[in-house]
Amino acid sequence: MKKICIIFISIILLTGCNLRKETNIDKLKKIGYDEKLSTYINNNLKEDSINYLLTHDFVSSIEEIIKNKDFKEEKLSKYIEYLDKYNFNVDDLIFVVNKEYYTDNYSEKVIKLMKEDYFIFDNLDRYLKYTKKENTKDIIRDVNSDIDNKFYTNVKNTDLSKGYLILVNKFNKLDSNYTPSNLVNIDKKYGNPLQIEKTTYEQFIKMYNDAAKKNLYLYIRSPYRSYNTQLSLYNNYVATDGKINADTYSARAGYSEHQTGLAMDLTTPKTLLGKFEGTKECDWLKNNAHKYGFILRYPKGKEYLTGYMYESWHYRYVGIEAATTIYENDLTFEEYYAYYVK
Ligand SMILES: [Zn+2]
Repeated sequence: MKKICIIFISIILLTGCNLRKETNIDKLKKIGYDEKLSTYINNNLKEDSINYLLTHDFVSSIEEIIKNKDFKEEKLSKYIEYLDKYNFNVDDLIFVVNKEYYTDNYSEKVIKLMKEDYFIFDNLDRYLKYTKKENTKDIIRDVNSDIDNKFYTNVKNTDLSKGYLILVNKFNKLDSNYTPSNLVNIDKKYGNPLQIEKTTYEQFIKMYNDAAKKNLYLYIRSPYRSYNTQLSLYNNYVATDGKINADTYSARAGYSEHQTGLAMDLTTPKTLLGKFEGTKECDWLKNNAHKYGFILRYPKGKEYLTGYMYESWHYRYVGIEAATTIYENDLTFEEYYAYYVK
């Protein structure tokens, strides 16, 4: 009787064990995750993610991945796919997948480029082809500014839909018949009585008034210029100075920001362009113009990026937000445009 009881109880226990449903923790442990990690996965990941892990072989760095501060659960399968393919370290893996920087071309240099400020994924091939600089920061700045091409090559018609952020430089031009639609006349109190774009003028007047409160007086020397005005200006410079020199300080027709109506050469009423540097007005503008939406368009030290010698007098209206970002991050408009606008 005793024997029969023991057999009977054993049968009940055994079938009971077999009938108990295998839990996710059990299944995870079978793949190779230890008790603690299996419990963690079970308690912290969604059913879909757990099922995904259950269909996949043991992933040795799974703990590091799911506990990484930037881990995004919805990308779990992509992390594992890229880990299998490229054997990334976990930080790089999470970075690349989170940013969706997918390529077949990973290397130490590629990852370094990707982690730089202002990295643009679409420019990756150009960054890699550009051999003039070694430092990844320099490569990105140069290529974003298009200077992996020679000036006046690969020229495009600029995208007019960008409004106040329209880019005009040695790679982006305006049609000969382009005229800004909202030109207004400049009162002689503020400068040469020529024409300028309306908002640019209104912002200039605010800036003028605030400067005047500090006994600083601004004067608009040269605002809007038509295509034909620029054409004769440039041709005159070429005639007297030669084309190579003229190109360092004068835009060819169609390539001048002055044709947008958004640019102006500023001085004081009594100084000419060449004497503006060093005046109080010049210093004040450098640190305040952005508050009104203006940028110093051709800064010192950035000549190779903008294609123009330093011009202390040439200001361009881009709007307050863009001007502030450009000022605070010490960018050229080319760099800003590539990263934030295009
Ligand atoms: Zn100018």
